[in-house]
Amino acid sequence: MTDIKSLSFDELSEEVEKLNLQKFRACQIYQWLHKEGVTSFDEMTNLSKSLRDTLSERYFIPHCETEDKYVSQLDDTVKYLFKLYDGEYIESVIMKYKYGYTICISTQVGCKMGCKFCASTLAGFKRNLLPAEMESQLHAAQRDLCVRISHIVLMGIGEPLDNYDNVIKFLKTVNDEKGLNISLRDITISTCGIVPRIYNLMDEGLPVTLTISLHAPNDEIRSKTMPINDRYGVDSVIKASRDYAEKTSRRVSFEYTLIKGVNDSAECAKELAQKLKGFICHVNLIPVNDVKERGNIKSSDKTINNFKDTLKSLGINATIRRTLGKDINASCGQLRRRKNNGD
Ligand code: SAH
Repeated sequence: MTDIKSLSFDELSEEVEKLNLQKFRACQIYQWLHKEGVTSFDEMTNLSKSLRDTLSERYFIPHCETEDKYVSQLDDTVKYLFKLYDGEYIESVIMKYKYGYTICISTQVGCKMGCKFCASTLAGFKRNLLPAEMESQLHAAQRDLCVRISHIVLMGIGEPLDNYDNVIKFLKTVNDEKGLNISLRDITISTCGIVPRIYNLMDEGLPVTLTISLHAPNDEIRSKTMPINDRYGVDSVIKASRDYAEKTSRRVSFEYTLIKGVNDSAECAKELAQKLKGFICHVNLIPVNDVKERGNIKSSDKTINNFKDTLKSLGINATIRRTLGKDINASCGQLRRRKNNGD
């Protein structure tokens, strides 16, 4: 069976032609799949029953079934644990901001990157998500909440640039005006820094925003928490980010998770400022989220504020990330892990 929802419009048109259907059927089917986000052929009510049967014999529609849903009592953040067609689980989080709804989506089932502070990698890597499965996270949430999601961050479970081709196809599909029609400028890709893929991404000519999970100012500290750093060190990641900003004219930001006694000293802040000198970028400071098995301790508010002030005094734009959904374990990877452990 072919995954019909991951086909581009041109690929779907070819299938329609092979089935000897009229051309306009491709438009109808594409809209049902991508604008309406249907999960079965039976919902395609302007197709005859026999055509729906023909389609369901040949194709399937990967979608996200809600296994669990958590709504924050503090700030309306909603977190979903979704079940996929093969029984795997992923997570998505929907956050409400002044400018609209943002969804944080997963790009893989699990993760290979092995960052020491992260929950997503603990339950191991299973597989890449299909383009349709990334898009279906939006459809499932939109249908359930009856809202329009306008912004996407690829910051859930997985490393987006380790599932490169499917991510690019997903970006093109959600941007299509026949589908969800989301502006590429309102999409952010977060990466642990797979340098060659950052260069590939800048050559695609898609004006998406890039965020780099840096978390340390030098190789010695970064390699302790992020194994990827042994392949692509701090300087090469920052160089790639500068090149990305120059080529795409998009501002790059850096995620910096503060862990007590690991990367939160004044020296770290100064070294970071030195490396980012002259680069118009933004640093997001994030207090590390407690993950039971990880044993990392949050830096104190005072240390975090000092870190920010040091960066600012050296000319680097920095803000402390507001935590949303504190009461529902909104950071990704934790629900899938609990489910797999049978807790
Ligand atoms: N693989 C991508 C996207 C997923 S992780 C990446 O590395 O960017 C999303 C962000 O959450 C990354 O910045 C990651 O480093 C951060 N993160 C992971 N675990 C965390 C934790 N326990 N506390 C705070 N941030 C965490």
